[in-house]
Amino acid sequence: MSSNCIFCKIIAGEIPSVKIYEDELVYAFLDISPINLGHVLVIPKEHHQSSSTVPEATAGRMFRVGSRIGIALKRALDYDAFNLHLADGAAAGQVVMHVHLHVVPRGAEDNFRWNWRQLSYASDAERAEIAEAIRTRLKP
Ligand code: 5GP
Ligand code: ZN
Repeated sequence: MSSNCIFCKIIAGEIPSVKIYEDELVYAFLDISPINLGHVLVIPKEHHQSSSTVPEATAGRMFRVGSRIGIALKRALDYDAFNLHLADGAAAGQVVMHVHLHVVPRGAEDNFRWNWRQLSYASDAERAEIAEAIRTRLKP
């Protein structure tokens, strides 16, 4: 437990939350400011700021529970689809520094657009250089 972390306080019951699911590894609850109604956050019970330090079993559980909640959102609230979204780091939009997986229910006409731009590589050489730089720094 990290003493100044609001999500650790939610897990400890010191800050109220609307629980959707809980097991020994993860806790899931309604986001207080949903993109669409039913938007859920899945968090590890252990405090981790980044997805990179979450043990594999817990990370797998987060993903699995997120998917199951996405399916439940479709069934329960008649949504068409869902996004799983994780912001790792402030520049990526992470505001709460306890890693969390967003489960965002989506309707075909919900008028919400991720601002997903698409750049291109200047050349095959640039593409190859970038790929090689990533591969050589990829830790096991
Ligand atoms: P981030 O931008 O870090 O990926 O997302 C943080 C999310 O946590 C936001 O969607 C925000 O609405 C949600 N959030 C922040 N504080 C609280 C809280 O006290 N309770 C709940 N249920 N959600 C919160
Ligand atoms: Zn925490």
